Amino acid sequence: PDSFICNECISISHKIINEDEQLESFDPTNIPTPEEIKAYLDSVVISQDDAKELLSVVAYNHYKRIFFAEDGIEIEKSNVIMLGATGSGKTLLAKTLAKKLEVPFTIADATTLTESGYVGDDVENVVQKLYANSEGDIEKTQKGIIFIDEIDKICRKGENTSLTRDVSGEGVQQGLLKIVEGTECRVPPHGGRKHPDQQTITIDTTNILFIVGGAFTELEKQIRSKKASSGMGFGTKLQEQDEKNYLSEVQPEDLIKYGLIPEFVGRFSMITNIDPLDETQLIRILTEPRNAILKQTHYLFGLDNIDIEFTKDAKQSIAKKAKALGTNARGLKNVVDTVVLPYQFDAEEMRNRGVSKIQITNDVVDRGADPVLVFKKANGTTKTQN
Ligand code: ADP
Repeated sequence: PDSFICNECISISHKIINEDEQLESFDPTNIPTPEEIKAYLDSVVISQDDAKELLSVVAYNHYKRIFFAEDGIEIEKSNVIMLGATGSGKTLLAKTLAKKLEVPFTIADATTLTESGYVGDDVENVVQKLYANSEGDIEKTQKGIIFIDEIDKICRKGENTSLTRDVSGEGVQQGLLKIVEGTECRVPPHGGRKHPDQQTITIDTTNILFIVGGAFTELEKQIRSKKASSGMGFGTKLQEQDEKNYLSEVQPEDLIKYGLIPEFVGRFSMITNIDPLDETQLIRILTEPRNAILKQTHYLFGLDNIDIEFTKDAKQSIAKKAKALGTNARGLKNVVDTVVLPYQFDAEEMRNRGVSKIQITNDVVDRGADPVLVFKKANGTTKTQN
């Protein structure tokens, strides 16, 4: 009766108790198996089987490592380097993995990161972003996944960089190394730069899984020309050799020669690669994943009570156009959006005219021709018009 508690404290206490209960009720035997993880990745990401298998196992072991750690046995973390052309699914794989495991996830672009103290994003901001994505739950943050893209852009440039401060390259690798290895990271809970009297929270990064990605285009070219000049593949068909993705042969020492510091590479025990996507795979990406672009388009037009259909040839043309852009699947959305934009603009007017379906043919995609329109007549029959 003599103690007083304010409404805010009640609500905070309620939250703490709730979180504790949730944590206690977590059943570690419920961790999805590698097959289950892979099956989920398959439903979202097309192809890239090698990377999917590796990530499934890494994630599975990662969680065993966290939940079944025994005194005396410390299973080391297996962070992952994913090499491969832009737009072919690196970010999507990491994001989908986090979704399956129900852990917070964040993406950072290595090129925007700088060493602490320089203008730009401190590497610690990445941890802050993960914390923000976990809705301020420190426990969850400490088990999350961080994906850092464009890691090939922070390679050491030349041999003598230690003489001058290398803000964009080696310094950032050093900064990242600390959080990848596991450190107590003090971050401002609401982001922004740290300053002396700012309130900070401490996040232990030991159990955060790091996946880094990069296109490593130059490295691929280097290995390709080395193979060609060393006469390896002599006797194999030239075209066969040319289509091979040489990133699949990358070894840690190649990455070090390329400019990643040895300590950094040493913290990533798993290296995997993803392949550029061909036209057939691009067509599958358009239609198959649960969130496929054409499914989204169909849904959007459906909200305007109009059905939209893409012919087989139209899908092929879209894939061809996207392929020509050279950004793998990233170009698909842009091509589709450009094609359907005029009809989205006219949707209401078309519906008023009685249009019930728009059929997109390859002529629409390639030459901007008019689509086939299907009209619903008052008596329920349909007529078409080009
Ligand atoms: P990056 O390899 O550059 O990280 P992303 O994963 O960001 O590429 O892919 C860009 C977009 O292309 C994604 O939003 C996704 O929709 C699509 N995409 C890329 N690769 C695939 C794939 N293998 N399967 C399905 N969609 C893909």
